Amino acid sequence: MNKPNIIKLKEQGFCYGVKRAIKLVVNAVNDTSIKKPIYLLGNLVHNSHIDDLLKELGVIVITGDIRLSMLDNIPNASTVVFSAHGVSQKVKDKAKQKDMFIIDTTCPYVEQTFKLIEKEAITSDIYFIGKSNHPESIAASEISDHVFILDPKNIYNEKINKDKLKVAHQTTMSCYDIENIFKEIKEVYPNATVLDMVCKVTENRQNQLNNISNLRLEGTTQIIIVGDKKSNNSTKLFELATRIKIADAVFVSEVTELNLEISRTYDNIIIASGTSTPEALVDEIIDAISSNELFVKSSILPINLI
Ligand code: SF4
Repeated sequence: MNKPNIIKLKEQGFCYGVKRAIKLVVNAVNDTSIKKPIYLLGNLVHNSHIDDLLKELGVIVITGDIRLSMLDNIPNASTVVFSAHGVSQKVKDKAKQKDMFIIDTTCPYVEQTFKLIEKEAITSDIYFIGKSNHPESIAASEISDHVFILDPKNIYNEKINKDKLKVAHQTTMSCYDIENIFKEIKEVYPNATVLDMVCKVTENRQNQLNNISNLRLEGTTQIIIVGDKKSNNSTKLFELATRIKIADAVFVSEVTELNLEISRTYDNIIIASGTSTPEALVDEIIDAISSNELFVKSSILPINLI
């Protein structure tokens, strides 16, 4: 039977923003001075394994799309966690009015981009490129009345000042998408300028995937993207992988979703993962392809995070 040459790309596992968010919540769980239960406003990061772990630790996950109204489902004076994607000032103010103790795990990089949008929105209108129901997009749209979420099917918006338009975007977008969407915006608003907001961790993972043709692999190649389907940066990695002509691409959230028989027919396997994907899930896939057996480990988080 064929045994593929497996290449695990260098950048894997949690980014610093995800590690920081998990640590803040786990530390709060272990801190006896913090009121329990702890309520988490939405998913901490987009990976269901992490939510499952937090639920096991007693954290109550409040589901929904709109953070502002989700706060109504948490009793006053409770402990509340804001997720790594960030929340708007309106959400922070409402939590304070409800006398809540706040654990804010917003990634410092997302926070930085929100501050930039706030500053630019004083003198310009802002077009924000992002998934319309993603918490980062919703939080960005609530920063100012001058922020508009872009509808890619209908770029012209009569409320926008055509001479003072800046384009902002989610931190986990693909550079390729931004470039293309910006070209379309420029056709409608020639004076628009773009604010570069792709986070470096996301950009590095996209670059290492883009550069695989430098590996000069012989034979057939499959790219496996490991990540949760709700994760924007994993989805963007997969979209990028599908554009790479020398390889086929699949997107799985864990080893049980992978068709091992098909993967083992390839000469080369390249594995990349999103920034909220535990590295253990990547290693399980590598073990399964190497041995042609499926082992699922009981713990997916590095021990130093617990
Ligand atoms: S992907 Fe980038 S922006 Fe998102 S949490 Fe990680 S470091 Fe922060």
